[in-house]
Amino acid sequence: MNRRDLLMTSTASLGGALAAGCASVAATPAQPTPFSVSLPAVPIVGSAEVFPVRRIYCIGRNYAAHAREMGSDPTREPPFFFQKPSDAVQYVAPGQTVDHPYPSLTRNYHYEVELVAALHSGGRNIPVDQALQHVYGYAVGLDMTRRDLQSDMKDQKKPWEIGKAFDLSAPIGPIHRVAQTGHPVQGAITLSVNGAVKQSANLNQMIWSVAEQISRLSEAFELRAGDLIYAGTPENVGPVVRGDLMVAHIDGLPDLSLRVV
Ligand code: MN
Repeated sequence: MNRRDLLMTSTASLGGALAAGCASVAATPAQPTPFSVSLPAVPIVGSAEVFPVRRIYCIGRNYAAHAREMGSDPTREPPFFFQKPSDAVQYVAPGQTVDHPYPSLTRNYHYEVELVAALHSGGRNIPVDQALQHVYGYAVGLDMTRRDLQSDMKDQKKPWEIGKAFDLSAPIGPIHRVAQTGHPVQGAITLSVNGAVKQSANLNQMIWSVAEQISRLSEAFELRAGDLIYAGTPENVGPVVRGDLMVAHIDGLPDLSLRVV
């Protein structure tokens, strides 16, 4: 039985409770499951609630100097996106240094500090001037990258997953609601390793704004509550090795501190 048949059978067994054309089946508390699967979630500052993560989108080459260092022309390239699995999030509590495991297979493991936008609603074909109303809040994030594997796959014209979409590849701090932060459009974004500043830029250097990213993404995917958007990294990405201490900073948000182990 192939996957689609399985889904159709599951749908039928629910007595037509699901809308026609809906290809997925969600477990509900009333339905027994043979095992449990945890829903990834990120704490929300000043709230007992957590933010459930549905999808993680990342934008590529969204700062001109980083686009150039990755070998492309920032003036002509439309925005492009990739995804990480939702359970790639690694929560980093403010004021703590968490252990971040050096992943398998790579010999060139890179940091990319990024602003993260968290959505509480979504849709398709969202106009730029309405995009920010879908943002629930913001966080500091890292788009960790097995650069050597990403580069190998690029050279072979194969997908990037192995370089970008691995376990714990999306460290993130707590989500701050828009009421607390506003919509950050400027401010320092930095990453240091062992106390030395490696990445240092300003959010106002983004090529595509968060609103423009949401609008463009929604042309390709139906955005929904729970989606995270990693808004791209500035220039001077680089490697870490075991033992290194990474500190990610964005003005107005608490620092993220991770020890590579
Ligand atoms: Mn990135």
